Amino acid sequence: MLLDVWNSAAGGLVAIIAALALVGVGSSLLLLREHFRIERRATRLEDEIETLQDRLWTLSESEALHRSLVEAQLDVIVRRDGEGRITFANSGYAALVGRPRNALIGARTTPHVVETGQTRLREDGARLVDEAIDDGEGVRWFAWIETPVQGRAGAPEILRAGREITERVVTERALANERSRAQAANEAKSRFLATVSHEFRTPLNGILGMTDLLLDTPLDLEQQTYLRAVKTSGGALLSLIDEILDFSKIEAGKLDLSCDPFDARALIEGVVELLAPRAQGKGVEIACFVDSRAPRLIVGDPDRLRQVLVNLAGNAVKFTETGGVGIEADYEEGALTVQVTDTGPGIPPDRLASIFEEFEQGDGGPASKAGGAGLGLAISRRIVERMGGTIAVDSAPGAGARFSIRLPLPADEAEGRPETAALAPDLAGRRYLVLARSPFEGPYVQRKLAEAGAQAVLVADAADALAKISTAADAERPFSGLIVDCALGDDVARDIAAAAREAGVERRIVLLSPFERRDLGSPSAAGFDAYLVKPLRARSLFERLTEIAPPPRAEATPRMTAPRRKVGAKAKRVLLAEDNEINALLAIKALERLGAVVDWAKDGHEAFSLAEASFSGLRPDYDIVLMDIRMPGLDGLEATRRVRRLEATLGRPQPRRIIALTANAQKEDEQAALSAGLDGFLAKPFDIKDLTGLLMDGERGEAVARAS
Ligand code: ADP
Repeated sequence: MLLDVWNSAAGGLVAIIAALALVGVGSSLLLLREHFRIERRATRLEDEIETLQDRLWTLSESEALHRSLVEAQLDVIVRRDGEGRITFANSGYAALVGRPRNALIGARTTPHVVETGQTRLREDGARLVDEAIDDGEGVRWFAWIETPVQGRAGAPEILRAGREITERVVTERALANERSRAQAANEAKSRFLATVSHEFRTPLNGILGMTDLLLDTPLDLEQQTYLRAVKTSGGALLSLIDEILDFSKIEAGKLDLSCDPFDARALIEGVVELLAPRAQGKGVEIACFVDSRAPRLIVGDPDRLRQVLVNLAGNAVKFTETGGVGIEADYEEGALTVQVTDTGPGIPPDRLASIFEEFEQGDGGPASKAGGAGLGLAISRRIVERMGGTIAVDSAPGAGARFSIRLPLPADEAEGRPETAALAPDLAGRRYLVLARSPFEGPYVQRKLAEAGAQAVLVADAADALAKISTAADAERPFSGLIVDCALGDDVARDIAAAAREAGVERRIVLLSPFERRDLGSPSAAGFDAYLVKPLRARSLFERLTEIAPPPRAEATPRMTAPRRKVGAKAKRVLLAEDNEINALLAIKALERLGAVVDWAKDGHEAFSLAEASFSGLRPDYDIVLMDIRMPGLDGLEATRRVRRLEATLGRPQPRRIIALTANAQKEDEQAALSAGLDGFLAKPFDIKDLTGLLMDGERGEAVARAS
């Protein structure tokens, strides 16, 4: 029984234990599950923390990197709020203002600016400013950039970042200093040269003028020879002075170019005419050809272009002993090209490279028989380059020389389409025979005729010409015209003219230099019905060819500056203001010789009182006043201004002609003289011819002769 009880009790216990155990296991399982859940969450959190830490680390690393980059690139950075309080400053800024970095936040500290340089606003709104800052140890320059940025909480702030530029500024300033010192030295040099050249010109004026006067007195042949040599040497010295002055101006960067429309053809033909007496005098021809497709007017500096061409063609004439000099001009793609070719001795290859350098000359140096200082080509090159063009030379010993320039000069389009220089009439269907042996004029005439549509046969030999004339006559197709260069000889010209007349050639023209004209005598007696003076102008050639009836006296207004009429019976009264006694004596003698009555004033004051006296009727009136510009006391410009003011006050209807006399023949001087009220300009040393022209020109404002 007991066993039963035990058994049943034990059974119960087991059951209870079992039950309890079951409960325990169950709750343990729950706990276990919870434990694992918590553990999983913790791991996740840890992972997250790690990721976050990673991110933080990356972030801080990138910020550090960023900051180090910023610090490396920019020396100083500061950020301020709208009230100017610092919200951020880097160590560079702290060092600049001399305060610890953390003390700066919230402060309004600014660096000590001692100078502000350039300031400008960039398109994106950023302001750029250069400042010199004294940081206590010295002055340093900073280039700042200021930009508006968004601060914390969106408030607007200004970010200012600067980089030190002390080294650059110091170098720049040293350079500018150096430059202005060099410029000042250059200016002093050209002022010195201008003064010196003036001082040279004044006595030279005396020498040349007195020589002129002396040459007009009875002299034997030997004396005349010596005096001419004095005059030639004086002239050479004068052009040398001009060259040196010109060169120094170019060196000092003072070559100002004008920008005017000009007729290139007229300019080139003018240069050829200017040099023709010199060339023809030594039996050398000079001619030009300007392509008719060139615009009538181009824009540039005609005076400087003329100077270059006179130099190139002048050299060509100077060095050429047989043959000739030809100038050819063409215009293409907005550029004028001019070639000056000669049949002279040419230039050795080893000299070609340096020929445009200053003081470069052929053998013989300054005393060589050709004369010159070796400055002409150097000046020409500088002028051409200043005009944006190029100059070149091509030559071989014994084969002549060819200088070419190319200048980008626009056509004048002021009146719409640029007009071309075409002046050739329509000569289509006509045939001309040209007989010329010259290296340039013959081919140029042929080209001019071809431009007009005519057919031109060029022959260099008389027998050839005669054969051509008779063949044409036999074929009943006589030439419309014959053009003969008289350089082939008078007899040849006469024979050909006779044959041509016989063969029914309507127009027979002879080309003559003034020397040949003298030898040939009357062109009509020689069998020609017209003549043309060499060098030929294209227009004259075409006019001669298209004239209906042969003119009674053919062509060529002599291009001489001979007096148009004798000085009138009534003597001209001249007031001469000149401080230099020799120059005054010279001018007085020359004027008196022309029949003028001269009053001499030694300075501007005297000149003004004489003018005043003449206005008030105390002295006879003056027809003309010659006013030296540089005089002690009252100079010529001021004296003129006073005379003009007096005239205005008195309301004189006919103001005096006042002509400046000056040795400073520069453009600026001319301008100053004109604006002071002077009517014209006479550069010293002047020629008696210039004075003659002056006394003849009745009307005020007429162009005044210029000595050169
Ligand atoms: P210069 O005033 O001496 O003529 P340039 O500078 O004009 O000075 O010329 C320099 C030198 O170049 C001359 O001395 C001469 O030897 C040479 N030269 C210039 N043009 C010619 C030419 N057309 N033919 C031969 N030689 C020339």
